[in-house]
Amino acid sequence: MTKYHLNLAHLYGDLLNTYSDVGNIIALRYYAKQMDADIAVKVVSIDEEFNPDEFDMALFGGGQDYEQLVVSKDLPNKKAGIEKFINDGKPLLAICGGYQLLGHYYIGANGEKIPGLGVLDHYTLSQDHNRFIGDITIKNEETGQEYHGFENHNGKTYLGKGERPLGKVVSGHGNNGEDGSEGAIYKNVYCSYFHGPILTRNGEIAKKILLAALHHKYPAADLSQAEALEIKPTF
Ligand code: GLN
Repeated sequence: MTKYHLNLAHLYGDLLNTYSDVGNIIALRYYAKQMDADIAVKVVSIDEEFNPDEFDMALFGGGQDYEQLVVSKDLPNKKAGIEKFINDGKPLLAICGGYQLLGHYYIGANGEKIPGLGVLDHYTLSQDHNRFIGDITIKNEETGQEYHGFENHNGKTYLGKGERPLGKVVSGHGNNGEDGSEGAIYKNVYCSYFHGPILTRNGEIAKKILLAALHHKYPAADLSQAEALEIKPTF
């Protein structure tokens, strides 16, 4: 029995799970165990209610344009819930397609406009017959931490109000190949184009997400041991 229990919503986990984004849950569980916490996971998909009060953290993975289009039609039903979840300060990890769908819209590879939730202020354009593919390294300017991953996306994302990048591109393409930014941070929402999956290779981000969830759920707990968890490089 662990001391802490966390509930994770895997948003559209049956449709958006490119390049094993589900591995992020394995990484979260690996680090959670070291913080004396376990994680129950529930996939919340099309036509299912998302109750923000039921969950302590969430994962919104990547996918193909077709699946993103399917998901986008269901998003209005979950908008109020996801907005509340984010504004409550609960952590959400959004990768690639999920990242795009948190913003205003994504223009798909065939030119179709796929509406997003619009709860974050970015938007995503399409590249003409090109994708950003390959290994990528970025540096978070606030912490100096370096993050490593693999990107494969058509979309070019431009950040908006209140969003700061997850990191500055050291090598690779990032959000749009132009402004040197990669990913986004907004409140406790972490967005990125990184697959890999991101958390298996960048435990520091897993640690931030878990600590945010634990502090939110257990405000009176002494979490100093979890805070002190040392993350060993895995890439
Ligand atoms: N379909 C989107 C794009 O190509 C997202 C891809 C992904 O999630 N890997 O930009």
